[in-house]
Amino acid sequence: METAAPFKEAIDELRENGAEAFKFCYQCGKCDTVCPWNRVRNFSMRKLIRETTFGLIEIEREELWRCTTCGRCPQECPRDVKQIDNIIALRRFAAGYGVFPGPVKPIRTVSGNLTADGNPFGEERAKRADWAKDLSVKTFEEGMEILYFPGCYLSYDARLKKVAAATVKILNKAGVNFGILGAKENCCGESIRKTGNESLFKRLARENIKTWIDHGVQKILVSSPHCYHTFKNEYPKEFKVNFEVVHISQYLYELMNEGRLRINKDYAKKVTYHDPCYLGRHNGIYDEPRALLNKIPGLQLDELPESREKSFCCGGGGGRIWIETPKSERFANLRLEQALAIGAEELVTACPYCITNFEDSRVVLGHDDLIQVKDITEVLQEVV
Ligand code: SF4
Ligand code: SF4
Repeated sequence: METAAPFKEAIDELRENGAEAFKFCYQCGKCDTVCPWNRVRNFSMRKLIRETTFGLIEIEREELWRCTTCGRCPQECPRDVKQIDNIIALRRFAAGYGVFPGPVKPIRTVSGNLTADGNPFGEERAKRADWAKDLSVKTFEEGMEILYFPGCYLSYDARLKKVAAATVKILNKAGVNFGILGAKENCCGESIRKTGNESLFKRLARENIKTWIDHGVQKILVSSPHCYHTFKNEYPKEFKVNFEVVHISQYLYELMNEGRLRINKDYAKKVTYHDPCYLGRHNGIYDEPRALLNKIPGLQLDELPESREKSFCCGGGGGRIWIETPKSERFANLRLEQALAIGAEELVTACPYCITNFEDSRVVLGHDDLIQVKDITEVLQEVV
């Protein structure tokens, strides 16, 4: 038996939780036409919006948790319905009642881990800087050029620690005076916020902000578009702070243009670039990663069929990175097939969630020998 929340209470709570624009929807269905879910199974944002309008919100349904917040449908909506705000408000509502349907249950553990250790994996906070042990990375001190904030995946995940190491190697080559804050760093909180846990987001964010102020941080370099998005847009909006935030793809482009970083080797490979949703669509950073790759002699950069503003989501945003998705429903599998179809030897991207999902797809689809998945820094480290 599913629970339909009482009409007035649900609508009022949704309004309080930031969803209001659902009332403008006129059910055209353009959102469903572009939603990546409808390439792997049925899912209707249009229907969810309609149910919201009538207060018929069944908070036990997994449908509430499907949206990856990829940002594709708001581009098409003629009524500016703000589907993402709406879905997050619905999740806040469900999370407020402690309702997490089957596949979404890991969110509870993730929230517990973030509360206890500042990372989603339940790894010890004290080990957050272990990735940097053999790389002679300095601790950040006031007056340094930039704070490097690798984020949770690059700090703890075996595959993604290689991206952190590549970043350090490049920064050292360019002579950048940078440091890290290791165990003093928390998860940025972007994804847990998208699961409706507003109080945990605020707690993680406040602690990060306090740490940065205490250490005299002014400029922050990030590897994850999710960290970028929340530091650049959400922290200033919620907490009125104004740190300068740069994504690694922007920063490396800047270093090259300033002549601090030089390419001195060829890279004779066919490469394609996947735009992460939170770097591209949500923040408009499309050109710098491509410009970096195009500077490399020998590298052939071919575009994927759905790229830039229309980039196809990997499936990892909106907290979905922590939710088990059946193999037949993984968007990343389709993206990997697209890369193979254009003859790419390497699928390059600039987001830890995309890398995690694409690496998984390589194994699931048995394409390990056909294509490599790389972060843009892993390509750059080979040629500088
Ligand atoms: S595109 Fe906008 S107006 Fe059309 S059904 Fe979707 S939410 Fe409603
Ligand atoms: S934001 Fe993306 S995943 Fe969510 S409903 Fe819109 S198109 Fe689908």
